[in-house]
Order: sequence, then structure tokens, then C-alpha cells
Amino acid sequence: MQPSGLFLYISFMKIEKLHELFLKFSTISTDTRKVTKDCIFFALKGENFDGNTYAKKALESGAKYAVIDDERFADSDATILVPDVLTCLQQLANFHRNFYKTKVIALTGSNGKTTTKELINSVLCTTYKTIATVGNLNNHIGVPLTLLAIKEDTEIAIIEMGANHQKEIEFLCNIAEPDFGYITNFGKAHLEGFGSFEGVIKGKSELYDYLQKDEKPIFFNADDELQANKLSNYINKFGFSETDSHYYNIQLKEADPFVQIIFENQEIVSNLIGAYNFINCCAAIIMGKYFNVSIDQIKNGIERYIPSNNRSQVLTQNTNEIILDAYNANPSSMKAALDNFSKLKTTKKIVFLGDMFELGSTAPEEHQHIAELTSALNFTEAFLIGENFDVTTSDLKTFKSFNELAVFLKTNTFKDASILIKGSRGMALERVLDLL
Ligand code: ATP
Ligand code: MG
Repeated sequence: MQPSGLFLYISFMKIEKLHELFLKFSTISTDTRKVTKDCIFFALKGENFDGNTYAKKALESGAKYAVIDDERFADSDATILVPDVLTCLQQLANFHRNFYKTKVIALTGSNGKTTTKELINSVLCTTYKTIATVGNLNNHIGVPLTLLAIKEDTEIAIIEMGANHQKEIEFLCNIAEPDFGYITNFGKAHLEGFGSFEGVIKGKSELYDYLQKDEKPIFFNADDELQANKLSNYINKFGFSETDSHYYNIQLKEADPFVQIIFENQEIVSNLIGAYNFINCCAAIIMGKYFNVSIDQIKNGIERYIPSNNRSQVLTQNTNEIILDAYNANPSSMKAALDNFSKLKTTKKIVFLGDMFELGSTAPEEHQHIAELTSALNFTEAFLIGENFDVTTSDLKTFKSFNELAVFLKTNTFKDASILIKGSRGMALERVLDLL
């Protein structure tokens, strides 16, 4: 049945035409609460909502057009009916990405994507017009929305790509068509969706596979055996290393607590803690080199970046120095954070660790490993919080829930200590701050 009312039909309206409208009105909204005047509203669907039902409201709130995929809501010439709104958004983003000459750098990996993306942007924006993924918008919706933020004068777009199952990075690459790529690391994250650690390597390497097809440049950590092996036969690669003179030589001077770097006789003092953040800085440094950013601007770009959102933040509270790393956690980043914390020179060290999620059937064994590692590192005190940690066996104190910990902390206080707080997002361990 033909829907009634005036509307544009995507099968008649090529993506080029939709793109013309996009260029004219230039803002996109997928949320009626954030509709701005003359934007184009994309009626996406979620688990618990159908954007089609909000199309009318979006138009009433000022949207110029509403892109929908349910003909029952096509009731004015401002509704654009398409076969599938999400696909349409992705196709539009891909078209837009190719419309200008912008170079696209894609990055993925298990840990440190957002931090690395921010660092790269901080370095490259000193010299180029850049755009980068906002926050953590790194999925099948976030990547298109980021690409649609490219403007005519954008020289470089830095795109974070997240994945928790196979073929996701390949899919995102087909939308973003990156010219350059970087994988932060292969770690034990999202094991549930990837099936195994080998599954993680395969899934993340889809970025390498995509770039290698056309021999496009790949940035990599030459000291990471997994990355070096994966790229051993690949020519068009730019690496960094602390020891191998074939690559950009970058030295970690120290990480207590802030990462300090020596590169080309310059000392770069970052606001980041943890040796793992040295790697993230190195990626930004070599991309700066590759794109001919001056060493002064590379240094400036790294030094002015201050982490936020509970990602390795350093805070002082009631005589305690706190490393708040409660943004997320998985076995690799947990191990990196513990190793780093154990190396700090302070003597009174207290650790609060929360459960790691999305580990599937490996959860018991991975939590047990972390409990044993934590115990072996002999911190002054260490507390494990959550149902997964609660069933581990070690000499450490465990709490089944955050509430149990809260009760404990009412009668236990800490002074003059260094405190590490880390757990998965769902544990929201930043709440510990209020109890210390
Ligand atoms: P998400 O999967 O949520 O997008 P992400 O990969 O973007 O995460 P970040 O948000 O940059 O990662 O960092 C999250 C946490 O990962 C940090 O607070 C830190 O604990 C840890 N981390 C950062 N970089 C590394 C790294 N290179 N290796 C191991 N752990 C890291
Ligand atoms: Mg991220």
C-alpha cells in the first residue's frame, strides 16, 4: 500500500540528494530532546524505543526533516521515508566521508582508545584542522555521526572504533574508509563477544586487514610482540620502540606517578599516570612526526592533555592521593594498573578493585588471576568488590556488593595513603570517593 501524504521516498531519492539536504542544514539529531532548529532528525530504533514514533515531535521541535522507516509516520513532506534509517545514516556518513579530501585515521584496540584518540587530536590540532570522535561514540551509530562532523576545511578526522564481536571493525572500516590505522593493543576485553583472546586479536586486526588491502599506512608499537608479528611482512608501517632503531625511538623516563618521555632530546611531561599511558603518548608522537608537526607542538599537544571521566585521574582528598581509574576494567587494564601502582615509590598503598564484566565463561578464572596477582603484590591493604571477586580465594578482603563495602568504610578510614580505585563501569567505583 502506498503511504498517504507528501514525502520523499529514498528509493527515488538517491543518497546524493539526501547529502545535499545535509550540506544545507548540516546538523543531525537522533534524539528529540536535542533537536536543534533546522536539523535533520534520524529516527533510529533502540531496544526500548522506536524513533519513528518521535518523528512528529522532532518536526514540531524545529527539525527540518525527519528520516523514518515506518510509512505509518510519513505524513508530511518533511518526512523522508527510507528502507532502514540506520543503514541510511551509515550510507550518508560514508558518502560524506568521501565528499571532501579529509584524511581519516581510525583507531581501535582493547584498552586506551579514547585516551590515545584525545592525545592524537591534541597533537595534530596544533597544526591541522581536525575533528575527532566525541567522548566514546565509537560504534555503528557513533562512527557515522563522527564522520558527519567533517567540514569542508577538516584536514584530518580521528575516529575511535569500538567492537565487542567479530566483523564489527570491518563494518566500521567500510563506513569510515580509513587512510591510516592504529591498534592500541590486543587485550583481554570483551572476551564474551569475541569468544577468546585469539578472537580478540582476529577481531581487532580487521583494521589491519582493511588497510593492508590497499597498502595504506599503519602505525604500531614495535615493542608489542603481537603487533610486530602481525605486521612482520607489511611494508607500509610506522612504529615506535624503546630499543629497536628501525623505528622512532621514544624513551619512558619515568612514570611515578606521571609519565615523562624523552623524544628527540626533548623531555615531555604528561598529565597521565601509568606506564600504559606511555604507549598511548607514543602513538600520538609518531603520528605527529608522520604529519610533520614540529617537536615543540608535539610536546605541547601531549603536555596539555588532562584526562577526565574517571580515566586514570589523580586526585588529592583528605591527605590521600587517589588514582581514580573507575571508568572501566578488564583483565589487561587491571593488570597494567596494578603493575603500575605497585611500582610507585609511596609506601602506604591501598587498592579497591571492582568486578570486571563481559568476560563470559572466563570470568571466574580471570577474577581469580587478578586476586592472586593483587595478593602477590603485597599492598598495604587490598579490597575486592563484587559478586565475581567474592567467590575468589585469596587472603584479601572481599565484599559481595558495594553496599557491603560502604558499611565497612563507615568504621574504617585511611590517611596519608596512595589509593587505587578500578573496576568495570557497571561497578561505578567512583562512589568510593564519597566514603573515604
Ligand atoms: P572503551 O572500550 O570504553 O572505549 P578505551 O579503549 O577507549 O575504552 P580509555 O577510555 O582510553 O580506553 O581508557 C580506559 C582505561 O583503560 C584507562 O583508565 C586505563 O585504566 C586503561 N588503559 C588505557 N590505556 C591502556 C593501555 N595502553 N593498556 C592497558 N590499559 C590501558
Ligand atoms: Mg573509548
